[in-house]
Amino acid sequence: MLPMKIGVLAVQGDFDAHRHRLEELGAEVVLVRCPEQLNEVDGLVIPGGESGAILRILGRQGVEKLKQFVRVKPAFGTCAGAILLAKEITHPEQEGLGALDVRIRRNAYGRQINSSIRQGKLGDSPMEMVFIRAPRFERLGPEVEVIATQGEDPVAVRQGKILAATFHPELSEDTRVHQAFLDLIGNGTL
Ligand code: GLN
Repeated sequence: MLPMKIGVLAVQGDFDAHRHRLEELGAEVVLVRCPEQLNEVDGLVIPGGESGAILRILGRQGVEKLKQFVRVKPAFGTCAGAILLAKEITHPEQEGLGALDVRIRRNAYGRQINSSIRQGKLGDSPMEMVFIRAPRFERLGPEVEVIATQGEDPVAVRQGKILAATFHPELSEDTRVHQAFLDLIGNGTL
């Protein structure tokens, strides 16, 4: 088998932290700056940043190309990336890629705690989680599985080969979520 190439969407946001983390885990990373580069990669990370800005920079054709990609290939979105993958986006409403059957509310934690480091759980194990103007999953479709929680909230979910987290695993030392994504690309399971 040819070695896997992982794309990191690099038009806006904290893409370099993802590149660093994936390379640390031994993956070959391509920074995807234009949609044509999606043809070369086996999976895609959509980073945190500002989801509205990412949509604007990609433009209509870029968004279409991305929609087609996430329909067939594995993708992992963090924060703004999770927002982009969702079917329904609120506060304000925004177009999405429609790959994940969830409703997600942008900037859901309000101003006081809009950024914080909290203890959550990946499955049953404790995990440090960095939240930055984080969204919240408000509805999960029947095929969506919760893989991490913080308090009562689901904060990382999976539907088939789509993974999404409302926190930023690329900003903690813990590599487990990125490793889970690489496993998902490699053998289709977590
Ligand atoms: N609030 C941002 C948005 O709506 C996401 C913040 C983040 O990615 N850290 O796109």
